[in-house]
Amino acid sequence: MFRSLHMKLVLILVLLIVSIMAVVGTFLINGVNTFYLDNFYDQIAGTFGTSEESSIVPTLEEAAEKNGEQGLMDVLSALAPKLGINDYRNYYILSGEGYFMAGSNVPLGAELERTSNVIAAMAGNVGDRSSAVGRVMDFAVPIDGGDQQYIIYIVDDKREISDLSGRFLQIVMQAMMFGLLAAILLSFLLSKTITTPIERITEGAQSIAEGNFDQKLGVQSTDEIGELTESFNDMARQLKNTVGEVQGERDKLSTLFLHMTDGVAAFSTDGTLIHMNPATENLLGVRFEHSLTFDEMFADLDMPENDESAVRSFMTSEITRFGRVLSITLAPYGALDGEGGVIAVIHDVTEQRKLDEARREFVANVSHELRTPLTNIRSYTETLYDAVGELPIETEKQFLGVIGSESERMARIVTDLLTLSRLDYGRMDLRMTRFKLADMLRNVANAMKLTAEDSGHELLVDTPDKLPELMGDRERLEQVVVNILSNAVKYTPAGGHIRLSAREISGERVRIMVEDDGVGIPQEDVPRLFERFYRVDKARSREAGGTGLGLAIAKEIVQQHEGRITLASEYGKGTTVSIILPLGLTPDAEEKQ
Ligand code: ADP
Repeated sequence: MFRSLHMKLVLILVLLIVSIMAVVGTFLINGVNTFYLDNFYDQIAGTFGTSEESSIVPTLEEAAEKNGEQGLMDVLSALAPKLGINDYRNYYILSGEGYFMAGSNVPLGAELERTSNVIAAMAGNVGDRSSAVGRVMDFAVPIDGGDQQYIIYIVDDKREISDLSGRFLQIVMQAMMFGLLAAILLSFLLSKTITTPIERITEGAQSIAEGNFDQKLGVQSTDEIGELTESFNDMARQLKNTVGEVQGERDKLSTLFLHMTDGVAAFSTDGTLIHMNPATENLLGVRFEHSLTFDEMFADLDMPENDESAVRSFMTSEITRFGRVLSITLAPYGALDGEGGVIAVIHDVTEQRKLDEARREFVANVSHELRTPLTNIRSYTETLYDAVGELPIETEKQFLGVIGSESERMARIVTDLLTLSRLDYGRMDLRMTRFKLADMLRNVANAMKLTAEDSGHELLVDTPDKLPELMGDRERLEQVVVNILSNAVKYTPAGGHIRLSAREISGERVRIMVEDDGVGIPQEDVPRLFERFYRVDKARSREAGGTGLGLAIAKEIVQQHEGRITLASEYGKGTTVSIILPLGLTPDAEEKQ
């Protein structure tokens, strides 16, 4: 109940009022008591005197000596007004032993108490001391009446003081009541001005805690509470900005996480799966479940046994899933003994591995292809050297012929490799020109005619005059057609038929076809024919002077022209190679450029 600010304020103000009133009341009543006491003794002292001359004592002693107690009574009754004798204050005549003899109030006098002042007077001294808290205030003076000793005793029962004190107490109590009432009202007012803004700020803070950052409190004063409200509004604004930035970053990260091609999975320290992105599901072939564990997902991962340091640092390993090679990188995050765990990044390295393999195979092929003619050249040269002048001239000529043809083969391989390398690195810039395709194809056919006729083939050219012009590198495209035509010549037994044709397709592209009725290619070899150094019949290819690079070069050049090359073949029946090329810019479009 007293925890609310309002109740605390009420309590403080009530305590304040009560304590002030208690202090005021005490001082007031004490002041009244002291005033009356001082007044009493001043009055008595004024009558009985402090010095011999002003004292009334000699007069009293004289009266006592003459008329005894009656004489004293006469003097005292004459002095009564001066001594302030009334209902509360009386004078008495006591014997020297302190017994009541006569007085202004006989019934009261019979019950007189023997106070310290009476005792002092009995001992012959003046008794003029009373405490402010005593029940009465009194004064006793010894009177020598010759043969009889008397004591004049004046006593005030303080009733007047009590009445006055009571009245004062009543006033103080009334004032306190009013004060308390005012305190309660004031505390209401105070608590309203202090607690209402605080309550509003509390509500605002609760609303922010629930995520409502658009909270703005009205600033109604310039005091400390006004400053607090302003600071609160500033804080809410800052918080909104910060939360917005954090949210933005989180959104960016989650989009990245969702759409990245690499798989990412997070595990807690006990190995339970916390998160994983769709790429992980695809790469590992699992569905997200909270019960999945690291060990279940990566059972085949090669982990160092019981090696604590392994989970504290990065670690990369490889696994194979569904025929794909996956590189798994494990990285710890957070504190491994508490809130933290391990993040696994799954990267598909299948293509990379294939490329590596292809590169290794290529280097091995190049070495092999060059070593064969080199070995031949060396052995023939050595034989010639060892038997200079001993061999018949015909044999020598034959040997030198072999050396010559092997050198030519090497030169062809090196030239083809160079061409491929230039195509690979984009260093072979195409010299694009507009030329008549029909002319180009006929030229190539003419150049190949003799070679074809040498093998007893019939070379048929079917290129209509109305073929459109083509935009391309004429020299490179000629090389493509030569490579394909010479393959048709090489791989067709003598007396075969070869057909070179070209057609326009829907005014945008052109198709060039080379058909033969040669040896054909087994179906399983067809997909690999465009690979470098891939040959179906190595011996036949070498014999015919092939390098195994002709189709690879043709494919690269066609692709650089944004075209497509395909090969269809039936083993033992023949082969058809088809090249589709875009015509390139129309003459109109070109002019506009
Ligand atoms: P090569 O220099 O050996 O001819 P290519 O790259 O030009 O190399 O051809 C690759 C392989 O494809 C050849 O070795 C051959 O086995 C096969 N080939 C190409 N064209 C034909 C064809 N028209 N008929 C039969 N086989 C062919």
